[in-house]
Amino acid sequence: MCQVYVTIYPCGHEERKYSFCRAAKTGKGGERCPCTAASEYRRTATAGCYLGGCDYLNAGRGNWTCCKCENPNSGIPRCDHLVPCPDIFNVTRERYEPQEKMMNCGHDCCQNCQKERKSPPTETRRCDY
Ligand SMILES: [Zn+2]
Ligand SMILES: [Zn+2]
Ligand SMILES: [Zn+2]
Ligand SMILES: [Zn+2]
Repeated sequence: MCQVYVTIYPCGHEERKYSFCRAAKTGKGGERCPCTAASEYRRTATAGCYLGGCDYLNAGRGNWTCCKCENPNSGIPRCDHLVPCPDIFNVTRERYEPQEKMMNCGHDCCQNCQKERKSPPTETRRCDY
């Protein structure tokens, strides 16, 4: 059966790695999905984040506003607000479903996201002109 390795980083980001068995399914986009008997192994990482420089961690894990869906988030590094699925998701289903489907935004806190710094860096005043 499939194995899912979940690494949880200090910032709260989760990284998933898979080891697939023969029963694993392949999605329409070619992505693989673990079978229903998949077992999950969780471990906690003490440092770092797979994003390289995690902006959520850099900003002190404060509240932030998603630059994609413009919803506020707090306490999580990845936006979990529900947003309408892009049309492409609706038409590739077995039959076309005209009503709007919702999905998680899933945007990782990035440099463009508005962040509310918990401990704002002391501003160094400088004269630009
Ligand atoms: Zn499996
Ligand atoms: Zn992170
Ligand atoms: Zn979002
Ligand atoms: Zn962003």
